[in-house]
Amino acid sequence: MALFDFAIVGAGIVGLAVAFELKKRHPGASIVVLEKEAALGKHASGRNSGVLHSGIYYGPDTLKARVCSRGAARMMDFAEEQGIPYRRSGKVIIATGEQDLPTVERLLQNARDNGIRAEKLDEKGIRDIEPHANPCRVGIYSPDTAVIDSRAVLEKLHALLARSGVCFVLDQVVTDVAEKERQLFTSTGKYSYGYVFNCAGANADRIARKFGLGRDYTLVPFKGLYYTLRPERAHLVRSNIYPVPDISLPFLGVHLTRVISDEVYAGPTAIPALGRENYGVFRGIRPGEGLDIGWQLARLYLRNQNNFRHLVHSEMERYRKANFLEAVRRLVPDIRADDLVPSKKVGIRPQLVNLRTRKLEMDFVVESAPSSLHVLNAISPAFTSSFAFAEMLVDRYEATATH
Ligand SMILES: Cc1cc2nc3c(=O)[nH]c(=O)nc-3n(C[C@H](O)[C@H](O)[C@H](O)COP(=O)(O)OP(=O)(O)OC[C@H]3O[C@@H](n4cnc5c(N)ncnc54)[C@H](O)[C@@H]3O)c2cc1C
Repeated sequence: MALFDFAIVGAGIVGLAVAFELKKRHPGASIVVLEKEAALGKHASGRNSGVLHSGIYYGPDTLKARVCSRGAARMMDFAEEQGIPYRRSGKVIIATGEQDLPTVERLLQNARDNGIRAEKLDEKGIRDIEPHANPCRVGIYSPDTAVIDSRAVLEKLHALLARSGVCFVLDQVVTDVAEKERQLFTSTGKYSYGYVFNCAGANADRIARKFGLGRDYTLVPFKGLYYTLRPERAHLVRSNIYPVPDISLPFLGVHLTRVISDEVYAGPTAIPALGRENYGVFRGIRPGEGLDIGWQLARLYLRNQNNFRHLVHSEMERYRKANFLEAVRRLVPDIRADDLVPSKKVGIRPQLVNLRTRKLEMDFVVESAPSSLHVLNAISPAFTSSFAFAEMLVDRYEATATH
């Protein structure tokens, strides 16, 4: 049986960034990364919008605020060093009605509190940056928002880590743990570890429960569908146009993003899904899991915390192109139905629900025991934040681990 100082479950961006940080601080340590898929990027880290957020959405008392802008800066430095395509293209957030004005002020306050550059815009200011944006009275410009090729980041980290001696075992589902013996069981083997980092994305809650942790939580999935703008109409969006979000929810609303390849994506939705890998209409729904998730969603709907009923109604409607288009036209009214082409890109956002409060958890959630640490809610902007978040996780390991 192989013995490792550190075992990392999951080779998404969080697992890779943790391996990178561990290798930096403990160059002699042995590290194994156990990944259930045969290739990297099959889940959230390979299916996201590729936006490096500035951190304006998060109140100063949150973990997200502590790591987002620092993480974005570190990701851009990494991209620079490693020749990964990225572009600091900026973002306009527009207020499409009076109801958005208090949130605009709140976001500007977040920017001041978090030391992030942001500028309040009037209608002319918005039009100067995005000439086709909805003529709104008020908006915000975030110059430090960037776009990056997220799959290229995963590939580069994978290659660097493998070259530095980190052992990657793909096609290997972690199924169980013997905590006292410090052994992880996988679909085909057994691994002895000194310390485990559980970075299993949509399955992190299940793995945490095997360690007796995460009992107050469960994950429910939300499906992110995208359209792209026909290339002849892509000029309608210069960089990134976002709505003012509902800050009681962890989602930012359908937005328009000019990604690194210069295509313009519209989306993603946040439609409640019935499987943690429910990427198709029915594909990825397992009967038992579907029932359990359906039950959790029904309870959230009844309690209606985080304005959940409104979320369900407005998001379910977006399965219909006409309703999706309506959300897009609030940002750029000139976009027409035939400008939107369905995209193959679909992501699942595994969202943590607190079983006691029946609320969606808005911030990253981390739990740890003497020989393990569990990342339970690596929602957006975990991609942006990953390098700084990994520093925080390794700090926590160093402060709490017993050997
Ligand atoms: C549609 C969409 C758009 C987004 N847009 C952005 C954005 O623009 N900017 C941003 O910062 N963030 C964005 N996010 C969020 C971001 O992508 C995620 O927060 C981030 O990728 C989470 O990384 P992760 O490593 O925790 O999870 P994942 O990428 O899901 O990685 C977890 C890994 O664990 C593996 N695994 C699971 N279970 C097991 C097991 N039992 N054994 C072994 N391996 C296992 C999985 O196969 C997977 O590879 C978006 C997310 C989605 C879905």
